[in-house]
Amino acid sequence: MEPKISVGILGATGMVGQHFVKFLQNHPWFEISWLAASDRSAGKPYQEATAWRLDGSMPRAVEGMKVGECKPGNGAPRLVFSAMDASVATEIEREFAQAGHVVVSNSRNHRMEPDVPLLIPEVNPDHLKIIPVQQRRRGWKGQIATNPNCSTIVLAMALAPFKQFGIKRVLATTMQAISGAGYPGVASMDINANVIPFIGSEEEKMQQETQKILGDFMGDVIHPLAAKVSAHCNRVPVVDGHLVATSVELERKPSLDELIEAINGFSSVPQQRKLPSAPAQPLQYLTAADRPQPRRDAERDRGMAVFIGRLRECPVLDYKFIALGHNTIRGAAGAAVLNAELMYSEGLLD
Ligand code: NAP
Repeated sequence: MEPKISVGILGATGMVGQHFVKFLQNHPWFEISWLAASDRSAGKPYQEATAWRLDGSMPRAVEGMKVGECKPGNGAPRLVFSAMDASVATEIEREFAQAGHVVVSNSRNHRMEPDVPLLIPEVNPDHLKIIPVQQRRRGWKGQIATNPNCSTIVLAMALAPFKQFGIKRVLATTMQAISGAGYPGVASMDINANVIPFIGSEEEKMQQETQKILGDFMGDVIHPLAAKVSAHCNRVPVVDGHLVATSVELERKPSLDELIEAINGFSSVPQQRKLPSAPAQPLQYLTAADRPQPRRDAERDRGMAVFIGRLRECPVLDYKFIALGHNTIRGAAGAAVLNAELMYSEGLLD
């Protein structure tokens, strides 16, 4: 058996950092060897620095690991996942990439930079071809790859099988779980029995990121999808799982059956290569009239699949449907781990 690849986590003590720790437990290729956070945590054992907020107990292997500073060197392995607060991620991620590290980031900071892949391995694996361009332009031995925002990933994955029919316009209305706001997130007095029809910068992120993800890599440039995308984002009293109610207009209108077949049959590079975190069927169409539902469906398939239901004709655009994904797994830590698996399978971690 080959030795495992050492990985580090920047921002390991936070909510997403904890999801990384949990998701990487027993990973067949990767092994956590280094954890880092702010100077408030540096120097302490992980167990002391971290208020563990996830179900189940903290994995034993990391309990006594000393938390380091988020600085290159310091024993940091080549591959680092980043879950740092967005206020500090821009500079620190750059410093790591410049110092030769492969930074697989979950933070928003570098997502929209033209030479940074905004990756969903099932949807745009070819966007990794921008990495040599990034390294050449910036003079880096290292690199930065990012995963999308947690609601964007659900929308972009659900739209992927529609792309072959020419996507013209998209209207997406989200019902987003409170875990997406981190911990402690939205005050219980605000969210209990209520809906908050605003999430700062979320609509802009969904609109722009979706166009970049569904765009095409041509001649060293990622050309965004020309479709118009409009998003309404709402916070709802759900713990985990973002729902996205979507209407879409297409250049060529297929039948309902053709679309359902395209959704269920959707499969890509991670499935062909059997990447360890890839769901066997990334998009699953649920036929029950009242599914998918966050509480019943978000955790299925380790939280890595996107569930689609209620596909029907839309009297304004062509079709409408509802999509669901686990926001802190497929929308955060799991997405980044799958990105790293794809990068490894492409030889980018050598
Ligand atoms: P969080 O719980 O507040 O955790 C932030 C992490 O950043 C902690 O480990 C913290 O360390 C570290 N940090 C803070 N200041 C730092 C500094 N000056 N230098 C180095 N590290 C520092 O936040 P989160 O909810 O996990 O989110 C992390 C990132 O993921 C954010 O960029 C967020 O936008 C993105 N994201 C979050 C979600 C979600 O569902 N929550 C989903 C997608 C993306 P200390 O514990 O030492 O302070």
